[in-house]
Amino acid sequence: GQKAPHATQSVQPKQKKIAVLTSGGDSAGMNAAVRAVVRMGIARGCQAYIIREGWEGLVRGNTEYNEAATATAANTPQNSQPATPALSRNASFAALPPTQRLANANKASKKRKVEQPYGPLTFGFGDLLKDGAGENADDIGAPIDSMSPLGLGQASHENTAVAGASVPSDSQKTLKGMYIVRVGWDDVRGWMGEGGTLIGSSRCPAFRQREGRLKAAENLISFGIDCLAVCGGDGSLTGADKLRGEWPSLVKELLETKRISKEQAETYAHLNIVGLVGSIDNDMAMTDLTIGGITALHRICEAIDSISSTASSHSRAFVVEVMGRHCGWLSLLAGIATGADYIFIPEQPPKSEKWEEEMCEVLRAHRRVGKRKSIVIVAEGALDRNLKPIKGDDIKDVLVKQLGLDTRVTTLGHTQRGGKPCAWDRILPTVQGVEAVEALLSATPETPSYMIGISENKITRVPLLEAVAQTQAVATAIENKDFDKAMSYRDPEFAESLQAFIASSTLDERFRVAPEKRLRVAILHVGAPAGGMNAATRQAVRYCVARGHTPLAIHNGFDGLLEDNVQELSWLRVDTWTTRGGSELGTNRTLPDVNLGGVAAAFQSHGIDALLMIGGFEAWHSLQILESARSNYPSFQIPMVHLPATLSNNVPLTDFSLGSDTSLNALIDACDAIRQSASASRNRVFVVETQGGMSGYIATLGALAVGGVLCYTPEDGISLDLLRKDVEFLRKRYELDQHGKSEGRLVIKSEKSSKVYTTEVMTNILKEEGKDLFDARSASLGHTLQGGTPSPLDRTRAARLTLRCMQFLEEHAVSPLQKNSYKGRNKVPTSNSPQSAASITIQGSQIIFAPVADVLKAADMKNRRGKVTWWKDMKALAELLGGRTGLIGDQ
Ligand code: ATP
Repeated sequence: GQKAPHATQSVQPKQKKIAVLTSGGDSAGMNAAVRAVVRMGIARGCQAYIIREGWEGLVRGNTEYNEAATATAANTPQNSQPATPALSRNASFAALPPTQRLANANKASKKRKVEQPYGPLTFGFGDLLKDGAGENADDIGAPIDSMSPLGLGQASHENTAVAGASVPSDSQKTLKGMYIVRVGWDDVRGWMGEGGTLIGSSRCPAFRQREGRLKAAENLISFGIDCLAVCGGDGSLTGADKLRGEWPSLVKELLETKRISKEQAETYAHLNIVGLVGSIDNDMAMTDLTIGGITALHRICEAIDSISSTASSHSRAFVVEVMGRHCGWLSLLAGIATGADYIFIPEQPPKSEKWEEEMCEVLRAHRRVGKRKSIVIVAEGALDRNLKPIKGDDIKDVLVKQLGLDTRVTTLGHTQRGGKPCAWDRILPTVQGVEAVEALLSATPETPSYMIGISENKITRVPLLEAVAQTQAVATAIENKDFDKAMSYRDPEFAESLQAFIASSTLDERFRVAPEKRLRVAILHVGAPAGGMNAATRQAVRYCVARGHTPLAIHNGFDGLLEDNVQELSWLRVDTWTTRGGSELGTNRTLPDVNLGGVAAAFQSHGIDALLMIGGFEAWHSLQILESARSNYPSFQIPMVHLPATLSNNVPLTDFSLGSDTSLNALIDACDAIRQSASASRNRVFVVETQGGMSGYIATLGALAVGGVLCYTPEDGISLDLLRKDVEFLRKRYELDQHGKSEGRLVIKSEKSSKVYTTEVMTNILKEEGKDLFDARSASLGHTLQGGTPSPLDRTRAARLTLRCMQFLEEHAVSPLQKNSYKGRNKVPTSNSPQSAASITIQGSQIIFAPVADVLKAADMKNRRGKVTWWKDMKALAELLGGRTGLIGDQ
């Protein structure tokens, strides 16, 4: 299928002005979205604007600012410029090719330096926006409904220097009254790792009224903005859709009331709008994920992981209330990721009218098998079948009264919104922001407004109107008690996750299959440990128990099997495995061909009917060996499935393997710390070395997630010529910096990108060539990249994919009883088809079981990776957004 977008597609636009705003509740990753829209917009030759405070800023425009400016203009003649002076001064800037633009900006910055204290490439306000410069809600005039106090109080940025010389001197410490601001490349530098939204957000009642939207239209036209990217929840996107729908009539009214000229009415007859979904609830239909959802899940899991140990110590019950008004996504996914006992979600209230009994029955069963702690997660919008809200305290009362449990309620509240974005909430908004710009630039009056979504790993454009309508339909279905319909509007992943949760938490005998269908399922880990391996094993064991199968753990891979290190696992034994890193079963790189006969004999002696292998390239290779030996060894004529798990993400055909997300998060944590050091010592380039074998996944996605300026991968290698150009880029970049604030920069280098240009050699070259412009250091992340605690995404992905794997095994299995009933006849049925030995793969928007031969076809066996990788273009994108492409071209 089509993969994530890259930098080179789409049309060359005529010059446009693109504005971006964030609206509604803030969410982690909004800043990365703004950065991507701004930088991609500039790279595409457009002028970029930010609109502060969401719709409120658009309605207000810069009128208040103009008033302030006029009042002081008499004393400071140089300040009597239009509200966004950069606009007129750089009118021709965007028309140039990127290389020239940056070079000119450099020249200009030197000139400007004399006139005014400019930051090069900085037409405005980056630091100002970050530092907040003392602004608060009062500064922006009349009270606004629950206006966030500008959300700009990020104290983490040391530099309070005013970059925006285009602001009159009396306003230099504030952007008071200025809501629509032209921004430059460097204004969004370092935004990737910041939580919340640096450009502010609000709820704006005025925009709900036509009069407010009329003012918004007037402001857009007066600034000549014809493209608008809106990042917010369903409310904000509804507003966006309204504005676009009404646009012709708004323009007409503005013309009739002489608020705009005839020429303006003609030029701005159309407004292009695109929506990016920023919401922690993950409640938008037609996309698997919203920007900020996964980070919120991180915060929830961190909290519940901590609660779990104290709950266990005191044998307590904890009720944890999480966000989600109409959407149980956070509750559900947190339930899976933390191994909770029970969850409440709005879409699927407990089946019985008496939820109290239903819940107590589950918890009682868990206690009966020996659990010492009970965790119940409840979404804030949870309801019973009669739409009566179910609150944390209600649940607590029931647990105390009916089960006699020492119970505490924890409401996580706003901690869920906070904190720095996780890896995926940097990558997703970045690729979606890029796609948003492409969608805006290719829009015509006939195309609908799009919302940028994601389906598994495919970035999608869906009609905004439809997505909003379907989202609202969920709430309506819930109101009408049509819970099945509410579920059907959620993406398929949601239903599957719910199924996985139920399978992992139930001890209900109803789910058991008939005795003749029960299997002995072996589970083993192969290769290096990866985050999520244990979560997958837990899910497999729990599924087996729920269905009446026997889960057999093979410890220490094929070595362990040959030593007969096989043990049946119990439901309780795996209880805490979701949160554990490494491999609880033990793993190594030994392949089954070390002693195929011995392996076959062990399969036979343990009566293994099905096999789940969790691991990376070796695990797939093992599958290939076992499958090709089927004709010689009947005990391999069983269904076998491989679940890819490796931080290198080098298993062919699958877009993601377990562990790769944990690893990326370990990388961004390390890089955030390194960047701080790099910035503190100024002018320092850090060459950060990553693991990943011959696969550049971690390096590439890592560079995209941390805003690395250069990226080296084994796929592309390193040449002297490339190094020369990269040095040229860095020199140019630091020359530009000389006139403003210097920065530390990150270069992400995969350890196997070159045998000759090792990290040490490369660091020395950069040091030498940087001369007095920049210095270089290196840092090797080594095994830290395996991560400690697996990320929530890896844990939940593990559960969902394992559920599919187990269903696959059941589908292709022939049970011992079935086999016995054939004894004495000629042909005993077996699982011998190529389809019954497969790897589970995520391919674009689909999950596909790929038989061994298909994976082989896609494999580059020499380099132990896929022949084609979806992230290849991401390297170019990282370097484009890092500024390399603009400065020295894209060779
Ligand atoms: P979250 O998911 O965090 O709640 P949201 O975008 O859904 O985010 P809302 O408060 O619903 O948050 O909407 C944000 C703003 O979008 C509103 O304050 C209002 O300005 C605008 N908006 C919402 N609904 C509409 C509407 N029906 N018509 C016009 N504007 C709207």
